[in-house]
Amino acid sequence: MISRREIIDLLNCRDPEIISDLHRRAADIKLRTIGPKVHLRGLIEISNICRKDCLYCGIRKGNTLCERYTLTDEEVLTCAKHAYAAEFGSVVIQGGERTDSIFTKRITSLLHRIKRIGDGALGITLSLGEQSAEVYKDWFEAGAHRYLLRIETSDPDLFRKIHPDDGYHSYERRIEALMDLKSIGYQAGSGVMIGLPWQNTQHLASDLLFLKEMDFPMIGMGPYVPHDDTPLTIITNSDPGASFPSVAERLELSLKMISLLRILVPDINIAASTALEALHPKGRIMAIRAGANIVMPNITPSDYRKYYNLYDRKALLLEDLDLGEAEIGFGEWGDSLHFNKA
Ligand code: SAH
Ligand code: SF4
Repeated sequence: MISRREIIDLLNCRDPEIISDLHRRAADIKLRTIGPKVHLRGLIEISNICRKDCLYCGIRKGNTLCERYTLTDEEVLTCAKHAYAAEFGSVVIQGGERTDSIFTKRITSLLHRIKRIGDGALGITLSLGEQSAEVYKDWFEAGAHRYLLRIETSDPDLFRKIHPDDGYHSYERRIEALMDLKSIGYQAGSGVMIGLPWQNTQHLASDLLFLKEMDFPMIGMGPYVPHDDTPLTIITNSDPGASFPSVAERLELSLKMISLLRILVPDINIAASTALEALHPKGRIMAIRAGANIVMPNITPSDYRKYYNLYDRKALLLEDLDLGEAEIGFGEWGDSLHFNKA
């Protein structure tokens, strides 16, 4: 086991040999616990319309510079069929948060239609923000079995600093939504952003212990990547107290976080986040070498990708999936071993 003190020391450590050792130890645990494979989730970014205003996010409601789109049902189904044909095994439907019934019912009907592809062959993960327990239940019954909802940071004070104080962005509500997902029976995934303004290695150590304590079977953690047209960028440009780590430091911290989590909870699914690739062209391969076992190739139609800018990801638009030496579990759902045990 690894103590909070050791976690903080490793997060602060700049010795390349110790860091390589940490990644090797995590990759070894991954290999021994869940085997050599990496599993894929085809990522479908269904819409960038969002009712929320998270201060860090480029598709927040208040960003009038963001051009909005929503994929048609046919476009989503074409993506899902593509994922099936490419033997990705699973899809993730991600988008801005919308709670109106036109949207939530549309998702229910889409889930039924995706389930018919290959007779239920595709695993389906949703990532559509906070919804009522009823909506989560409808979607579960329609065939979604995994749901991603990051806590973003486990520290309630830091959470308040990166979200507006308007009654719609609450740490407590986020926890409640995560508990609903678990009790309905989803494999609930969560995670945090790494390298946020005001965040230090004590916060990050607490994040890791929180994610372990909450017993999530899957985790996606990635670096904070600033977006020019967001309030958080304006704040960090004007307030020296709100500085955040450099690109190289955020990359290093993110990879260490993946390794530390793998050591803390060996049998969970850990995603190599797409945001890593915005920092380094080989970001996702580095994450796999550091202990991650899930990759989410973007299969959104290319005409729309440029509008789904959660963060500045110009580098990502030409994305080409190169996972180096990794062995891929084609055609498999790649569910979390941790969940199956629970
Ligand atoms: N609306 C849904 C899903 C889309 S956002 C939701 O919020 O859950 C998915 C994730 O993108 C968020 O959880 C957040 O962690 C991440 N994200 C948003 N803006 C980001 C930024 N500037 N840098 C890094 N990650 C960001
Ligand atoms: Fe909306 Fe998600 Fe962005 Fe928040 S992080 S503004 S909920 S898309």
